[in-house]
Amino acid sequence: MKSQDVRSKFLKFFEGKQHLIVPSAPMVLKNDPTLMFVNAGMVPFKEYFLGNSEPKKNRISDSQKCLRVSGKHNDLEEVGYDTYHHTLFEMLGNWSFGDYFKEEAIAWAWELLTEVYGIDKSILYVTVFEGSDDEDNLKMDTEAYDIWKKYISEDRILKGNKKDNFWEMGDQGPCGPCSEIHVDIRSAEEKAKVDAKTLINMDHPHVVEIWNLVFMQYNRKANGVLEALPNKHIDTGMGFERLCMVLQDVQSNYDTDVFTPIIREIETITGKTYGDNEEVDIAIRVISDHVRAVAFSIADGQLPSNTGSGYVIRRILRRAVRYGFTFLDKKEPLIYRLVDVLSKKMGEAFPEIRAQKVLIENVIKEEEASFLRTLDQGLVLLNRIVEETKGDTVSGEKAFELYDTYGFPIDLTALILSEKNLKLDEKGFNEQLQKQKERSRSASETSTEDWTVLFEDDVQEFIGYDTQEANVKIAKYRKV
Ligand code: ATP
Ligand code: MG
Ligand code: MG
Ligand code: MG
Repeated sequence: MKSQDVRSKFLKFFEGKQHLIVPSAPMVLKNDPTLMFVNAGMVPFKEYFLGNSEPKKNRISDSQKCLRVSGKHNDLEEVGYDTYHHTLFEMLGNWSFGDYFKEEAIAWAWELLTEVYGIDKSILYVTVFEGSDDEDNLKMDTEAYDIWKKYISEDRILKGNKKDNFWEMGDQGPCGPCSEIHVDIRSAEEKAKVDAKTLINMDHPHVVEIWNLVFMQYNRKANGVLEALPNKHIDTGMGFERLCMVLQDVQSNYDTDVFTPIIREIETITGKTYGDNEEVDIAIRVISDHVRAVAFSIADGQLPSNTGSGYVIRRILRRAVRYGFTFLDKKEPLIYRLVDVLSKKMGEAFPEIRAQKVLIENVIKEEEASFLRTLDQGLVLLNRIVEETKGDTVSGEKAFELYDTYGFPIDLTALILSEKNLKLDEKGFNEQLQKQKERSRSASETSTEDWTVLFEDDVQEFIGYDTQEANVKIAKYRKV
């Protein structure tokens, strides 16, 4: 089943269950002080869950672009090394805003997977929340357990802890217990060796979670306390690329038609082959993943920059550039050349990528070229630093020099050092960064940014909007 059909079947199914189908919301958030990017399908609907505004319909379904590169959900370091975590991915979801609850959510998930997609029941496992005896003091979700029993044998219903079976978007906001659906796509031989149940949630590449059904019934307040939501809701999220992996009968998201056209293009451009060498493979996976994140962020209006979300995007792009430079021996811009294939593949479902294609290409090309100009020299310096390092930790000052002079984001420096089994003094780096900020702050007291930036390493408290100027909302933060 082609990925296009996987997506449209999902939406058609829920349309048939009276859901309103909506396009993906932009991935970049401009007015949420708690979050930079949409990291789950429910984020654009937060206000509905909280009862602050009314949805057009109390059943909605979509495929939402999500980015997990910062904050509570940060998968960046896994990307490229495993075969099922991406920076940007699509989350297929169905929602009930105070309408249906667990009974229907579970019945429909089961119907869609086993009847519409025809997934063999013998590869499916589900989990339910076991409760917690911490300060939240939550009970086991026996309701979900009893519903699942109608569809799947009890030895395939596993109980899970808070980490895996209580879903929260961030430190605040709507949340609740969840039931997850996992697939076991190992070969018969592998299955005979180890019981799937012992591998669930253990980061096995072929025993993976595909769908999370969240039963929203709480709101976590700023002080950490859970309060019951006025209505109960359903929030589900299924990883589109993982579902394609299952339905296309392959063992990696990168072997689905979501990624293969991009990978073929990288092979053509670099003359390397995917599948021959682990380092090359990681680099190809990183680049084919990161181009999607960067391209869609630009399409959604966030250009790479030196602050806030823009800096997150720049870091992702620089990470990709460096993998191409070091492991694919490509010293010229390459990533911008993948945008064409991407826009052909994704343009139908996400027209913004087609509409903004030329801008995206130009921005990426310029970014690549500018980082490549200093990357070479920076790597020479980094190698010298490595040689001169006694012990196992590189100082924050050295890392800061790389950041300041050669544009090496701190996580890139840390990554390269970890490849050489070295650590980095991040605290020392942050002190240097802070000093520099103070220097530039005193140099110019007036800010030219219209948006106060949330530095990831700063803890800032949202203190309200400044709406003195007509129609311009400026979020204000106080350092804490
Ligand atoms: P995992 O345990 O695999 O990291 P998760 O529990 O963090 O996944 P959820 O927050 O429950 O994921 O999100 C719902 C679904 O989105 C998951 O079941 C999975 O299919 C998919 N998903 C989550 N993170 C990623 C990612 N980084 N890349 C691709 N798909 C993802
Ligand atoms: Mg995760
Ligand atoms: Mg999980
Ligand atoms: Mg999950």
